[in-house]
Amino acid sequence: MTKPRIGVLGIQGAYARHAEMIVLAGGESEIVKYREQLDGLDGLILPGGESTTMTKVLGFRITHDDILDFARHKPVFGTCAGLILIACGVTDPRVRQLGLIDANISRNAYGSQKDSFVSEISLEFDRGVPFHAVFIRAPLILSVGGSVTVLSVHENAPVLIGSGMHLGATFHPELTHDTRIHRYFIQTVKEVKDGKTTRSQ
Ligand code: GLN
Repeated sequence: MTKPRIGVLGIQGAYARHAEMIVLAGGESEIVKYREQLDGLDGLILPGGESTTMTKVLGFRITHDDILDFARHKPVFGTCAGLILIACGVTDPRVRQLGLIDANISRNAYGSQKDSFVSEISLEFDRGVPFHAVFIRAPLILSVGGSVTVLSVHENAPVLIGSGMHLGATFHPELTHDTRIHRYFIQTVKEVKDGKTTRSQ
């Protein structure tokens, strides 16, 4: 069986480690800088970074609309700034969102870089061992719509959410050696690829 091929948007931010995690989690990975690369992919990760900067850079070699087209048929996973981009509502007009997940987000809600923190969270799909989640100038999910499944919470706020085939995390799941969240995404990608999912939009 061929491995699912997952792209990591590589125009800004923390993309390299995501590509390593995909391989450790059983997929093939590719750093994506050009729209033509999307054709060969089964899923896409939008990494952490700076959502205002990513908004500006999305418009050249790969655009907002290219990713929207891709997301109609294939799963997208947004982490931190990537989640801000794939969600619906954000309290910052400089960010242009894709609206793939019905969630309202507040940027930098926990404070500045020095207020970044690590917390043990429980994963709804694998409750056995806590996940060591790294929050770096993390966004806060203020509210989610009825189509959203909350997969993990921190201090009563959702921090890992799914909607149809798409996934979003307010933290950096690539900054640990724990591949469970990447494996969860890869599993969705496989199901969509094989036409087996009940999670498609
Ligand atoms: N604060 C960043 C933003 O709003 C996100 C931080 C991150 O991705 N680690 O885009």
